Amino acid sequence: MEQAADRLSVRWYLGYNLDESLPDHSSLTRIRTRYGVEVFRRFFETIVDQCQQAGLVWGKELYADATKVQANAAVSSLKPRFAVEAHLNTLFSVPEGQEQQADEILPYTVPVASTLPLSEVEGSAANDHPWREEQEAAALPRQLHPSLEPGVCEELTKVNSERHDWIEQGGKPNREVMRGNYQRMADWQISTTDPDATLMQVKGGAHLGYHTHYVVDGGKARIILQALVTPSEVMENQPVLDLLWRARARWKLHPRQFTGDTTYGTAENIVALEEQQIRAYVPLPDFDQRTQFFGQRDFRYDAERDVYLCPNQAELHLLPSGCTDDYLQYRAKGSICNTCPLKAKCTTSKTGRRLSRHVAEEFLEKVRSYHTTEPYKKAMRKRSVWVEPLFAEGKDWPGMRRYRLRRLWRVNCEAFVRATGQNLKRLLKKRGWGRHPWPEGQKIPFF
Ligand code: SF4
Repeated sequence: MEQAADRLSVRWYLGYNLDESLPDHSSLTRIRTRYGVEVFRRFFETIVDQCQQAGLVWGKELYADATKVQANAAVSSLKPRFAVEAHLNTLFSVPEGQEQQADEILPYTVPVASTLPLSEVEGSAANDHPWREEQEAAALPRQLHPSLEPGVCEELTKVNSERHDWIEQGGKPNREVMRGNYQRMADWQISTTDPDATLMQVKGGAHLGYHTHYVVDGGKARIILQALVTPSEVMENQPVLDLLWRARARWKLHPRQFTGDTTYGTAENIVALEEQQIRAYVPLPDFDQRTQFFGQRDFRYDAERDVYLCPNQAELHLLPSGCTDDYLQYRAKGSICNTCPLKAKCTTSKTGRRLSRHVAEEFLEKVRSYHTTEPYKKAMRKRSVWVEPLFAEGKDWPGMRRYRLRRLWRVNCEAFVRATGQNLKRLLKKRGWGRHPWPEGQKIPFF
């Protein structure tokens, strides 16, 4: 609003006359709160729709990447999570018998973003607001297609309710999921300025921030098909499948390949993509180079007999006791290995050489076989000039280096506006800018 008051070009662009008063600065905050992130998403998707109608979306190749963006909060605002939560509970606890009074005092302090659970605002005077209906409609479970059989509908509803939908949750991670003994910093530290931002390492040290994820079309116009902001602790590979499936379903795309960097090369992503007949063009780590002994490449897998054959032609059989959910273990007999002339190059174990095989090794092998092909090399070359410059453009022009707003749903709104601006630039380049209507629809300028 300050910019619009100071700059004639912005005032003209917004359609305000010189003598017309601008809305109060708090209007933007109120409008954003009232709309919620869902309206910003619809706005973003409407522009992508128009890009598609203008022939700017190709849809055969999809690219994904993410960038770190600083939050509007300082590292010094980090405090122990338990202390902050205890403080907030004390601060907002309502003594018995005073609930009615509290509702009258707090109608505008209740968060109303569609990403927040409605239970948080239950019983509040906010329930009577006209936008309440819209919020409730957004919170209702999505209706499945009527042509689906009831049994299939039930099954799909159950599966969907059990999985973490990154888009539905507005980029919020599921803190209940624990991976072994790994302790996330964000589980015990929280910023009092922006509780959703988490610690990240950038040039110049540690900062609080977010990850902005983009899925970009491989066509010449490089249209951003999906955008999502998550706390920086969320790795790039985690929300990518949800973003890809939404892009595919929303614009009825039939991509033949997906390209991403090493972070996207997880077994879960690769299996999901390959099962949908989408080639996963992602680099895979080469563990064989990290060992002085024979690597997996030196062993040959016999799928029919489910055994590995070592360079000395000895067999490695499945070892059920060593298997996990993700990996199968194979082992050669200790008596054979101990007399093997190649043992010095193979293992130091007295019980025989062991080898791990991922349960999705078949798919991983398929992806490895792409690495020598020209389309894969071309896709990797293209990736570095397709997605990364979009982030550079966002950081140079629309101020993507640091979010201005705080809280996850607000930075998501900000990201949608930025991504829409980037898409609009391409759409207007194709369509032309046309004539801008004068303020209040005047045909003749007022001066
Ligand atoms: S040490 Fe065992 S597994 Fe390794 S090459 Fe010799 S026989 Fe094969």
